[in-house]
Amino acid sequence: ILSLRRLSRRFGGTLAVDDVSLDIAAGEIHGLIGPSGCGKSTLLRMIAGFENLDAGEIRLSDERIDGIAPERRGIGIVFQDYALFPHMTVAGNLQFAMKATPRSERPARLASLLAMVKLEGLEQRFPDQLSGGQQQRVALARTFAAAPRLVLLDEPFSNLDAELRETARDEIRGVLKATGLSILLVTHDREEALTFCDRISVMKDGRIRQTGTPTLVYDRPIDAFVAGFLGPVT
Ligand code: ATP
Ligand code: MG
Repeated sequence: ILSLRRLSRRFGGTLAVDDVSLDIAAGEIHGLIGPSGCGKSTLLRMIAGFENLDAGEIRLSDERIDGIAPERRGIGIVFQDYALFPHMTVAGNLQFAMKATPRSERPARLASLLAMVKLEGLEQRFPDQLSGGQQQRVALARTFAAAPRLVLLDEPFSNLDAELRETARDEIRGVLKATGLSILLVTHDREEALTFCDRISVMKDGRIRQTGTPTLVYDRPIDAFVAGFLGPVT
């Protein structure tokens, strides 16, 4: 569903993203891992439309989307700095993203989104009346509220405790099965990459070094870097 062809982005002397090509299938959860500064967030921002391309092409469902405004790309995004509208309640934040949903279907959709992130009963709260983890879950739910074709997640679980992280992953899996939506997930967490994702890509210095199923990449790393990065936690 998503096809990246030879994407590059330079900042001064730094090639943040260097000739990246990648295909993600419908319904796939694809994990992007690599050391800090290797270009993961830059690549996500390019796909979302918040960062210009120096070179390359992006297609979504066979449609060329680089050059299209971010809000018209059909992509949902949760970044590290999830920003909710502070003057709107939880329900307001979620309903705002439901512009494309028929009015009559919105209450049911709101209820299922709240259940997805275990925030039932908090819909009338404002963001400053929620914990950091709760705000992050609202941001996650809001992303799915827009019924996107692709969701980009940049470390979305980093503020959640282990149990909530597990719940959020299970719920996301459920949503994926129901919708055929694809996810590109940036994570620092090797265990998360290996257990949650259908396929992973390991990045270093702006380049994708290896792409494959977690088993393949773990068992047959292409080079010493990938082996060392994914290797057993010591
Ligand atoms: P982290 O895991 O720490 O979030 P990352 O893999 O997401 O790292 P990026 O944020 O994509 O890394 O940054 C890739 C490189 O590009 C880094 O060297 C960073 O300093 C540089 N960079 C990113 N954004 C800019 C910018 N707007 N201006 C200049 N340099 C930038
Ligand atoms: Mg980043």
